Parts: sequence; structure tokens; C-alpha cells
Amino acid sequence: MTDCPFCRIVARESPADVEYEDGEVFAFKDIYPKAPVHILIVPKRHVVSIQTMTEADVSAIGRCLFAARLLGERAGYGERGYRVVVNCGQEGGQVVPHVHFHLLAGRRR
Ligand code: AMP
Ligand code: ZN
Repeated sequence: MTDCPFCRIVARESPADVEYEDGEVFAFKDIYPKAPVHILIVPKRHVVSIQTMTEADVSAIGRCLFAARLLGERAGYGERGYRVVVNCGQEGGQVVPHVHFHLLAGRRR
């Protein structure tokens, strides 16, 4: 049992509204959505932050972005567009210490 909330979600030990899964990537709805579409996309392997990622994490991090494309299209925003946001560290507004990409769509800001 890990004390990382997102690792628990990936391991299906905590509930989440799952949107996507592949070998390296997991995505689920944000519990406090800030836009009509607000999905969190995470590497399955625990990576704390972009600040500390290594070469070994490049593939999984890249696949998170590719999943953002798939999920943006699936939600109907492929052409209209969407935001992909990653907060990095304390002053970057990162609260959960497991890398996550926020996919936000349906609201201008
Ligand atoms: P950040 O500030 O970039 O670390 O964002 C953390 C995000 O995780 C916030 O938008 C929270 O609403 C979201 N969050 C925290 N816990 C959960 C959870 N158990 N399931 C889904 N989203 C979560
Ligand atoms: Zn984790």
C-alpha cells in the first residue's frame, strides 16, 4: 500500500472515474473539475514531478501527452482546442507529488 493518492488510483485501490489506460499511462476525471472537461493524465509509474524526471521517464511522459490528444478528440475538442497544464513543484502549484497533466476543455480560461 503506497501513500501516493495517484498510485492508489492507478492500482485501483482508490476509486476514480477512469477515462483511459494503456501500458504506461492512466487517466481519470478530476474530482474538483475546473472546466466542463477536466481529466488528469498520469504515468502509471510513480514520478514525483517534471522537476525530478529522468531519461527513464521520457517515454511515459510523452505518452501522457499523446493520451491528451486522444482524450481531447474523444471529448469533441480535437479541432476547437483545449489546454494541457502541468504544475511543477511547490511554487508551481503542484499539490499531488505524482506527475499529472490537467486536460481542460470547454472553458476559455
Ligand atoms: P495539482 O494542483 O496540479 O497538484 O492538481 C491536483 C489535482 O488533483 C486537483 O485538481 C485535484 O482536484 C485533483 N485530485 C486530488 N485528489 C484527487 C482524486 N482522488 N481523484 C481525482 N482528482 C483528484
Ligand atoms: Zn504515485
